[in-house]
Amino acid sequence: MTGSTGLVVGVANERSLAWGIARAAAEAGARVSLAVQNERLAIHARPLAESIAAPLVVCDLADDQAVGRLAEQVGATGALDFLVHAVAFAERAELTGRFVETSRPGFAGAVDISVYSLIALTRALLPALRRSDRASVITLSFLGATRVFPHYNVMGVAKAALEATVRYLAADLGPEGIRVNALSAGPFRTLSASGVPGLRALMAAARQTIPLRRDLTLAELGEAAVFLLSSASRGITGEVIQVDGGLHLVGAAVPPEGAER
Ligand code: NAD
Repeated sequence: MTGSTGLVVGVANERSLAWGIARAAAEAGARVSLAVQNERLAIHARPLAESIAAPLVVCDLADDQAVGRLAEQVGATGALDFLVHAVAFAERAELTGRFVETSRPGFAGAVDISVYSLIALTRALLPALRRSDRASVITLSFLGATRVFPHYNVMGVAKAALEATVRYLAADLGPEGIRVNALSAGPFRTLSASGVPGLRALMAAARQTIPLRRDLTLAELGEAAVFLLSSASRGITGEVIQVDGGLHLVGAAVPPEGAER
């Protein structure tokens, strides 16, 4: 990715999927800028940004003016070769109760931050993406978009909308040479994921039942992202690529010893 310039949005700390991707892109030679939600998170993100010589920008994606300022800061003149959207939000109450209890504001808030922000960010950065000859946009999804996971609730619906958004953006921007794809990641213990009850149990079950029989590493996710952000994937757009150790293949999550009985 030498010579490529990109923006990675959604770094909260060193466990963030955004950080795994930013680090892998920087190691592959890209010049990366990072965006964080607020000053509180910037305290954790600043040393990470410094370690890869990345400028750090604060932007709350709920605020259209902040999105505009972000685009001014990172894409006012030069070309932007890639954009990574690694952002999701749902009120904790929406992830603890029954799905049927999903509230109207809880639904709207989850879809606004987890889905609409991809459209808003991409639109704000379009002039800079158009100046690139290899523009690639990626977002992060989860298998909860198409399968039901306990407590994932409204976030599963948001991920389904996010994957549809990837297809619509890819079709809309493809004629301008801008590609849009998603990585569907397996479970990682991050700040956001800790808001979904039962994550530890899901990861323990996955370790025993997914084809690769282990947790994935941030480096593995990062390298898959580098593929989608680089010209190696130049023929791919509108795709959701599973980087989940084969989680999406598993029908019944029965541990191997249980299946023998
Ligand atoms: P994380 O908590 O490290 O990152 C989520 C980021 O979203 C944070 O940096 C947070 O500040 C940001 N964010 C939330 N609301 C925002 C707002 N209004 N404005 C700006 N930023 C905002 O957690 P993560 O697991 O790295 O999540 C990154 C992406 O990966 C999310 O889309 C998540 O759904 C997805 N994902 C996570 C997993 C997992 O198991 N951790 C699996 C598959 C997909």
